[in-house]
Amino acid sequence: MSGHSISRHETRQVRIAGIPVGGGAPVVVQSMTNTDTADVQATARQVRDLAEAGSEFVRITVNSAEAAAAVPEIRNLLERDGCRVPLIGDFHFNGHKLLTQYPDCAQVLDKYRINPGNVGRGTKRDDQFATMIETACRYGKPVRIGVNWGSLDPDLLGRMMDDNARLPVPGEAADVMREALIVSAMQNAQKAEEIGLPRNRIILSCKVSGVQDLIMVYRELAARCDYPLHLGLTEAGMGSKGIVASTAALAVLLQQGIGDTIRISLTPDPGGDRTREVMVAQEILQTMGLRSFTPMVIACPGCGRTTSTVFQELAEKIQAYLRRQMPIWRTQYPGVEEMRVAVMGCVVNGPGESKHANIGISLPGSGETPVAPVFVDGVKTVTLKGDRIAEEFHLLVDDYVASHYGRPGQVTTATNDETARALG
Ligand code: SF4
Repeated sequence: MSGHSISRHETRQVRIAGIPVGGGAPVVVQSMTNTDTADVQATARQVRDLAEAGSEFVRITVNSAEAAAAVPEIRNLLERDGCRVPLIGDFHFNGHKLLTQYPDCAQVLDKYRINPGNVGRGTKRDDQFATMIETACRYGKPVRIGVNWGSLDPDLLGRMMDDNARLPVPGEAADVMREALIVSAMQNAQKAEEIGLPRNRIILSCKVSGVQDLIMVYRELAARCDYPLHLGLTEAGMGSKGIVASTAALAVLLQQGIGDTIRISLTPDPGGDRTREVMVAQEILQTMGLRSFTPMVIACPGCGRTTSTVFQELAEKIQAYLRRQMPIWRTQYPGVEEMRVAVMGCVVNGPGESKHANIGISLPGSGETPVAPVFVDGVKTVTLKGDRIAEEFHLLVDDYVASHYGRPGQVTTATNDETARALG
């Protein structure tokens, strides 16, 4: 499904540890840890979890001497476990000192994120910004100039507000603020180039927390420059609100071809799973037809015609199983990420939807004969019945994967025991 026909806003290509960003490359999924970076074990574990979930870059905060000293150790631990995911260092306030005093940290990071609003004030600002850019030049690293409205350069905003107030008809404060975000990103990118950072090592972002603001800012930014753009709604929030707001904003921009990398900034529930932000980012790209990551399960919502929770449980288990298999299947069964599996609740839409999927099952609704027809590539192949419909369908999915995506001679199927374990 990759290579969808949405025409992309043209940007220059930046390579981060060899991975292309912009210039027509597929939109890249990023995430960020929430561990204390100084805690090497916990941070390496979370980076690995995020990478295994499919995060193609992982950002870690580098906020203290201890954190900067920990970065090379984190990299080593990841390498030891075969995890090569590029690491991005997030710097605020003291980045100039940390990058200078901890050269190993500067060396092993694959990209630096610099927030121009948190680089310093007054005359120190330019020197501190220059120090970070010079470090990026020295080590050959790309940089994201990452502006955020919560930490917008107060000097710049103040100047622009004053200029606005002097106009015969002053504009709205919100318009000035949005313009200030764009100006901050553009001016700092220009400064970075003047210091010597090549244009093809700069990525921009201007994050805000309002959906309409984000859309307006990025449309304008895309119209004014050809740097690759990192998209994300900052402070999107918790639960469904965070997911819906991020999706609403990003879908509009991605549909217009704007955005080269994305991150979904969800607030996890206490003790919640950080990898959810990766899953949501992938699902946005996949449901829009921009990229494929995991086989998709198409399931009906259920209604008064469904007799039990069997189909809901089956849909949930199949989706979880497919996701769990992906770290192995990605290399074993190339193309499997585009597979569509339908799990439907009754005869009304069940057979039709199942026929459109690669493999689908239509479970019996209320009043229907207790049988479940299975469709493979649009053709009804078998009818399942009895207490083991879930297990048997699961085996059929495994067979489909092995026979359609396996290399010749590699055809394998799961055993009944493996399937039973997978179904929990
Ligand atoms: S397919 Fe059947 S069970 Fe599912 S929502 Fe439609 S009518 Fe209801």
